Amino acid sequence: MNATMPGDHDADAVIVGAGIAGLVAARELVASGVRVIVLEKGRGLGGRMATRRLGTAVCDHGAQFFTVRGRAFGTLVREAHDAGAVVEWCDGFTRATANGSGMLPPGDGHPRWRGTAGMTGLPKHLAAELDPACGEIRMAAKVTSLGVEGVDVIVSLEDGNRLRAAAAIVSSPVPQSLDLMEAGGMMPNAIDPDALRTLRAIDYDPCFTLMLVLDRQSLVPSPGGIQFEAEGPANGPIAWLADNQQKGISSVPSLTIHATAAFSREHFETPPDAVTELLLEAVAPWIDGPLASAVVERSLHRWKFAQPTTAVTEPLVAASTRPPIVCCGDAFGGAKVEGAASSGLAAARWVVRVLAGEA
Ligand SMILES: Cc1cc2nc3c(=O)[nH]c(=O)nc-3n(C[C@H](O)[C@H](O)[C@H](O)COP(=O)(O)OP(=O)(O)OC[C@H]3O[C@@H](n4cnc5c(N)ncnc54)[C@H](O)[C@@H]3O)c2cc1C
Repeated sequence: MNATMPGDHDADAVIVGAGIAGLVAARELVASGVRVIVLEKGRGLGGRMATRRLGTAVCDHGAQFFTVRGRAFGTLVREAHDAGAVVEWCDGFTRATANGSGMLPPGDGHPRWRGTAGMTGLPKHLAAELDPACGEIRMAAKVTSLGVEGVDVIVSLEDGNRLRAAAAIVSSPVPQSLDLMEAGGMMPNAIDPDALRTLRAIDYDPCFTLMLVLDRQSLVPSPGGIQFEAEGPANGPIAWLADNQQKGISSVPSLTIHATAAFSREHFETPPDAVTELLLEAVAPWIDGPLASAVVERSLHRWKFAQPTTAVTEPLVAASTRPPIVCCGDAFGGAKVEGAASSGLAAARWVVRVLAGEA
């Protein structure tokens, strides 16, 4: 299909965000002959599929692994696997109470996947596969507003640039997407009222991530991840603990610690040093010896929109049909990495249909 539109469009479709949803959407649009520009405010691809270096260590500090259930995502993961971008990590993790008592062995038989060199592997693979003749990704390109002019979408960027397109896919966390549409003057008349009600009801939990580099191996059992019991008053501040060396992405011992949603909400405005101390205290049982000597480097990250608490059952929400503007990501149709990827795919297919006059 050739959906290229006449006129002075910079692209047929603009995509806000180069997380997994935005990149899957870009791939699908390009495959359908739609010219795409992806705008990403960050310096790295992948959004919450994030990997970073800390000294000589490598830490995944957003999503830790992903599972594969649907056929479309399975095909994509298989291709990425064949290209060397992702590998199977294990078939489950140790489950534990906060103090490490009552540990259950890992393994429920369902494969957990990871990026070969870190979780950004899958997004980087998708970006590398994008045909440059039809798809462009602009990094450090922060969108400040998204509005409508006639039947066109107008996207403004922090650097003063403005893009005109026939359609937009907005994959940023929903509260941020609403801010962009508000700044673009879409409220209330240019946005479908039912869509607005649905979008406004979507909320996210925050999450603190503490990354540590150790001078010795950790006490985290094989295969390198512990999922802590569901939150409750008796439990501590940790939801997840990973050993990035056992995971196979770091050449030196390093840990990734995710705080629970309850702890992260309670301490969202607490000074970072105090949050770090609380999480260090809680992780001490998995570090052999005094923390002062074992921990050689530390870094705390605060995710404001870590995981949706209210998810919409549909895989996308159309804010507008003329021009097509659609919100997607992990808040739609199923959370987590696979849910976000499926939502990006559904959003792209919807845009293709609308541009072709079929929806
Ligand atoms: C701490 C943590 C742990 C997690 N653990 C897991 C896990 O183990 N397994 C799992 O499956 N999932 C996990 N998740 C969830 C998973 O990471 C997400 O569901 C998924 O990555 C979301 O993808 P997305 O494309 O919808 O959004 P994002 O990855 O958030 O992508 C949105 C992109 O939009 C960009 N953006 C935002 N605003 C603008 C703007 N104004 N202009 C330009 N760009 C913009 C952002 O920079 C970002 O790159 C975890 C998430 C977190 C935070």
